[in-house]
Amino acid sequence: MNDLSENLNSLKTKYREIFKNSAEEISKRIEELRPAGVTGEFPCGNRDWDDAVLKMFDEEISRDIYIKWQEILAYRKMFSCNRCATCCNLACSEFSPEVLKKKAENGDNFATQFLSVFVPYESKEEARKIYPEYIKMLEDNKEDEVYFYHCPKLSDCKLCTDYENRPQICRDFPDNPLSILPESCGFYEWKKEVEPVALLCHSMMEIIEFYKEKICTFYQD
Ligand code: SF4
Ligand code: SF4
Repeated sequence: MNDLSENLNSLKTKYREIFKNSAEEISKRIEELRPAGVTGEFPCGNRDWDDAVLKMFDEEISRDIYIKWQEILAYRKMFSCNRCATCCNLACSEFSPEVLKKKAENGDNFATQFLSVFVPYESKEEARKIYPEYIKMLEDNKEDEVYFYHCPKLSDCKLCTDYENRPQICRDFPDNPLSILPESCGFYEWKKEVEPVALLCHSMMEIIEFYKEKICTFYQD
């Protein structure tokens, strides 16, 4: 197995462990809010309990996540792009060019910016020439369909031909430490250091969404 696949599998294992601990922690906090005399699994139709839990999600957990994420982004400023050009040469999206175009037409800001920078590769094989380990990792892990893009402003000697005027999307990358980065990336150490906190935040957000949906479904049924 190549290193990237090992990294991805190790990330998934870490995430499962963190997710399990977060789920236990949140479940404990929900129990602590159970009103006296109320029995049964949450949610059970007691509005006071629902309100107390939703308040705890919004005013405590979501706030903590927000603060942690701001700290992660602030720490990112200690690192910088070393212009290895990997992210200019190979950008991936779960969306095809056609879907991105539709999203942009519907006002999606990210899709608009992405399409203003990147053009699609002719084929996966073209992309494989740029970063074979990454493509192999996606294949090994049978990830959902991924589309590959590159920036035509990159020169043959792997330099941005308009670096001073590069768009915001380029300046901000990588803005999520859970992105897969090559070791050549100047933000690789940042990613490694903040990854556990980012995984914790991600797990907390997923669990909160799960409970919110559970509450909605309970009252719809
Ligand atoms: S505009 Fe420059 S920095 Fe941005 S992706 Fe293209 S080559 Fe890279
Ligand atoms: S992969 Fe990282 S170091 Fe390389 S060009 Fe992109 S942001 Fe810069």
